[in-house]
Amino acid sequence: MEKREKLYEGKAKIIYATDEPDKVIAHFKDAATAFDAVKKATIKGKGALNNTISSFFFQLLNEKGIPTHFVKKLSDREMLVYKVEIIPVEVVVRNIAAGSIVRRLGIPEKTKFSPPLVEFYLKNDELHDPIICEEHIYAMNLAKPEEVSKMKELALKVNDILKDFMEKQGVILVDFKLEFGRKDGKIVVADEISPDTCRFWDAKTGESLDKDRFRFDLGDLIEGYKKILEKIEKGEN
Ligand code: UDP
Repeated sequence: MEKREKLYEGKAKIIYATDEPDKVIAHFKDAATAFDAVKKATIKGKGALNNTISSFFFQLLNEKGIPTHFVKKLSDREMLVYKVEIIPVEVVVRNIAAGSIVRRLGIPEKTKFSPPLVEFYLKNDELHDPIICEEHIYAMNLAKPEEVSKMKELALKVNDILKDFMEKQGVILVDFKLEFGRKDGKIVVADEISPDTCRFWDAKTGESLDKDRFRFDLGDLIEGYKKILEKIEKGEN
């Protein structure tokens, strides 16, 4: 496996080509951003933690039969993934109210959603990732109805798997964001699944073990992410 040219650089990751046309390398940076990148910092060790945690979750999903872009973890900061065409829609699943839904709709924090809520956001930094509905996805030709159904179905299955798994480790999965890609015409889970993209609360103490530590200065970010890694690595499935 040979690393080739940089294809794309985002806020948290760099994507490199490889000598295999259907695979790319995702490199996790130490950059932390929040509130549309208004708040920024470099946090040493964050990239490696997110790579390791993401690789673990993708492996778990692959084992459970969920199609993902993940091939294997290559090193501390890098994973090998299938090259996919990213659908510019962020899919958020919520089990408990926190974050933007509290601000936007005035739903009290910690309200339980049963069944879980599925929301769509347009992946567009200039427009600040606005919330959209299914009809907007069709009007803007971002994905076909069969693809949106598949994304919803997979997002809820991922929620079941991750929520159950984390519960066994004493962690509440509050909400998370997924991105999907097309691989050979099929919808697969892509991007990353990490404490940057999930809200995790310690079931005993209620402590945030995710990016809210950075967003709201709740404590050392690395310490929280390490707790997640330790719990999942010794975790029973
Ligand atoms: N999220 C994300 N990327 C985004 C927006 C949200 O990974 O661009 C994640 C976020 O970490 C949380 C969930 O999606 O786990 C729901 O986020 P929310 O809509 O509450 O927005 P926030 O208040 O976190 O900005």
